[in-house]
Order: sequence, then structure tokens, then C-alpha cells
Amino acid sequence: MTQNVSKHAECRALRSSPFANYSGIHPYSGCIPALATMHKKERAFAPPFRRWLSLPLITCDAIDTDALGTFTGEIARQGSMKDVAGHKARLASGITGRRLGLGSEGSFGPHPYIPFAAVDQEMVALYDRELGITIYESVVSLRTNFLHLDIDKSSDLDAFLRCIGFPQHGIVIGIADEPAPWTKGVQKRHELDSAISELAKRADGRAIRITTDMRAHVNPTRMRVIRAAAARLARRVKSLCPSCGAPGFGIVDVQRGAPCSDCGEPTERIAATLLGCACCPRRELQPVRKSEPVDPKYCLVCNP
Ligand SMILES: [Zn+2]
Ligand SMILES: [Zn+2]
Repeated sequence: MTQNVSKHAECRALRSSPFANYSGIHPYSGCIPALATMHKKERAFAPPFRRWLSLPLITCDAIDTDALGTFTGEIARQGSMKDVAGHKARLASGITGRRLGLGSEGSFGPHPYIPFAAVDQEMVALYDRELGITIYESVVSLRTNFLHLDIDKSSDLDAFLRCIGFPQHGIVIGIADEPAPWTKGVQKRHELDSAISELAKRADGRAIRITTDMRAHVNPTRMRVIRAAAARLARRVKSLCPSCGAPGFGIVDVQRGAPCSDCGEPTERIAATLLGCACCPRRELQPVRKSEPVDPKYCLVCNP
């Protein structure tokens, strides 16, 4: 019992120190993580991993990441985004023989609440073969050009291309009800025009559809969101568990029920975050700062 108390006092002291994560050598010091990518995602991962962990990366393009699911519908994704990101990270470690593997997976779709808005969700994962753990982070962003256009006489192709950031952002083109493969990665206007006239010859009244190419190397907007997720991952990896010292101590869950500022009843707003370790059972409840009272508009009692 005494031992437990003193151990926790030690943990508190360690945590409160601004040098908590600098006091020793990080367990990954000297490692060179391998990133699974066919689409230049090192542009997103390398800067934050250098900045937060001083780690260089190597890429592993021997993994056909497209075989695990494509955005253009040839191959459906098997399992959740988390499953696929973790699987890519484990493959990268396995193939290169490195202790650490990195992987990522994105998903796009209409925003669940905001009409006509789209969201980009990016999941990133780091696998540690030695500890047998996978550390995850994700970002959900409204910054995406995810959009399509069915070309007809009334459609304004130029306005669409301006809106999605062509030609810096690539596009995919095909006949709307035809299965993939479509022509991907189009970034030149003359290529687009000739693809449209080729498709028009056999469209037979069916719509010619242009969609944004969501692969990272031809979509700088998406690359920036992946970079934000990779930065979160690097910061989380830097944070060590106060109990066992494993990297990746961070938010594992949230607790809702912050009290309404008017009636005091619990609301759906977040009251606390639960921090946890991927390696040991250590958990810590961290209350959300009280400075912002919950507006009664979020209260089911005051605003049913
Ligand atoms: Zn209330
Ligand atoms: Zn731990």
C-alpha cells in the first residue's frame, strides 16, 4: 500500500514537471520508423516526426496500400479505418524489419449535421513491434474539396474546377453508372478535355462524372489534414506513460455530462477526458477547464 502511494506521488511529480518527457532518452530515440505509402505521405509525416521526436522516416512502397481499399470503388475497404491504418503500420514494420511502422487511412463523406458540407477523417497509426502496441490518432476536418460534377449542358465546368482547386488538385473522370476503373490523377486541362470527348462518344445519354481525386499526392488539401493527424500522433508518441514509461499516453475516451450553467443538470457536453496508456492499465481523468460554462442551449432540460 505504502509502495503504491509513493509510486503515485512519484508519478504526480513526474507529470507536473515540464521536463516530464525530456528527462530521459525517449524509448524511440535512434529508431527509423517505416511508413507504408504509395502516395507520397512522407510529405505529411516527416516534418512532425522530425519536429516532435527528432526521428527520420523511411517509406515502404512494397505494400500495395490500394489492395486494402481505394476511394474510386475498385476495392472496398475491409474493416474500420482504424483496422486498416493499424494493418498498414504492422505491414510496414514487418516488411522493412523496423521496430516501428506507420500507416494511415482516410474517409470522406457528407457532414452528418451541416447540409452540403463534406468532411475528411484521417486516421493514423504507429505500430511498435517490441512493445506489441499500436498508437492511434485521428483528425476530422471540414477542409476538403470532396465533390463531384455530372456534366450536362447547364453545368459550369470552369466554376467546378476553380472550386476544387484544379490543377493543383487532381480529378477522376468516368461514366457515372459504369464501374471503376476510371481515369485518375488528371491534372492537365487538355487531358481533361480529351477524356470528356472520348467518354462522350460512348456515354449514350449517361452522365459523364468528374470527381475530386482524394489520393494524397494529387490532393494537397487532404495532405494538409494528414499532416495535422501525423502531428497529433507525433505529439502523443512523445508523451510517455507516467506508470510504465511507454510512449503514446493520451486521450482514450471522453466523459459527457458537463453541468448546464443555468439549471445544473448534466448535458451532452464533455465534462472530462480519460487519458490512458496503450501498454498498461494506467488511466487518468482530466476535467475539462471550468472556465467555459455550458450554454443552456445544449441542455435538454432548459432547451428540450
Ligand atoms: Zn439547463
Ligand atoms: Zn503505461
